[in-house]
Amino acid sequence: MLLRLLIFLGCLALVALGAEDFYKLLGLKKDASEREIKKAYRTLSKKYHPDKNPGDESAHDKFVKVAEAYDALIDEETRRIYDQYGHDGLEQHKRGGGRPAQHHDPFDLFSRFFGGSGHFGHGGGQRQGPDMEVRVSVPLRDFYNGRQTEFTVEKQAICSACEGSGSEDGHVETCNVCGGRGVRIQRQQLAPGLFQQVQAMCDACGGKGKTIKHPCPVCDGTRVVREAETHELHVEKGMPQGVRINYENEADESPDWVAGDLVVHLTATEPKLGGADHERTDGTFFRRRGQDLFWREVLSLREAWMGDWTRNITHLDGHIVQLSRKRGEVVQPNTVEIIENEGMPVWHQYLPEGVDEAFGNLHIEYTVILPDQMDKGMAKEFWSVWEKYRKKSGKNLDQELGRPEGPIKMPDGHDEL
Ligand SMILES: [Zn+2]
Ligand SMILES: [Zn+2]
Repeated sequence: MLLRLLIFLGCLALVALGAEDFYKLLGLKKDASEREIKKAYRTLSKKYHPDKNPGDESAHDKFVKVAEAYDALIDEETRRIYDQYGHDGLEQHKRGGGRPAQHHDPFDLFSRFFGGSGHFGHGGGQRQGPDMEVRVSVPLRDFYNGRQTEFTVEKQAICSACEGSGSEDGHVETCNVCGGRGVRIQRQQLAPGLFQQVQAMCDACGGKGKTIKHPCPVCDGTRVVREAETHELHVEKGMPQGVRINYENEADESPDWVAGDLVVHLTATEPKLGGADHERTDGTFFRRRGQDLFWREVLSLREAWMGDWTRNITHLDGHIVQLSRKRGEVVQPNTVEIIENEGMPVWHQYLPEGVDEAFGNLHIEYTVILPDQMDKGMAKEFWSVWEKYRKKSGKNLDQELGRPEGPIKMPDGHDEL
């Protein structure tokens, strides 16, 4: 009796082990949309693909399970059964002759997403399609604060209506004119008795080697469609301007090749004032060079000369950097003041080992504006003050520097070399 109970418990454990929740497996919530399910499949099937994890049994196992979970959840009917009755329900449904979930071979399914034969190009003799480059621009503040965002690209995708066959009913026949080779050999007579064999494209099948009686109405038999795809973009704090972010196998798809990579060039947008407060900080107009930031601050003549002023600069995350001079502290025009650690955050890839956070510097370039209009009385008073002190201790700079009073005549000789 005890033995039987133990065996029974053992079986239960096996069932529990064998049947991992499909939603959990794909990292999805119960109410996941079709788009989310596809997205999850795209990500996980690449991660666990056996070609990427050679010799790793558990990855292979995951790859198969991810395909199984996808197949069950992407079909409305099987998803409903799974939601209500779980794995057992699906098993029964299959045995009861209900329309089975698509039950793709996991590699087949993979090839429907990424083209080719379901394997990666590298070394496997599989052709890899061209990489695709796009430029994505985000404001400087996103480089400073980090941001999770999205971007959309239009690309060529395998037609999901015909699963890349180009045929409405799934039937694709070998061309009977060229025997599937896509070319025909023609004999051309160049001169009497002199022949040349020429290869010409088969015009019956357009060189494809295959013919379709009923072309897919969605893609017109071309097997591919133009599609907009949205990708997540994680702008990491301090990422360098122009950094390239690789999205593996997300370039144009075709049944004839494994999709190449989508490469994103991340650049900063031109600074511009937005409507929201966080889009209107001084930091919006910081200029960036590597890890350092640059800002031009304007001082009046009085401030530059006599001191006694403060300025609050709002940084890219809203915190304030205060600049100030006490009475009597002079700031010469074009002086650059360096404020340490108020530059860009250092990207984690550039951080030295054991350092969690570091920042570049903020360079403040001072510009001094002289008044070009003055109250008459004020001008008069300034003038008399200047005159008073000029008479007392003024200097003639020409004399001080030993400059001649008139022009100097140059010797007009033609020296021989
Ligand atoms: Zn189609
Ligand atoms: Zn042909």
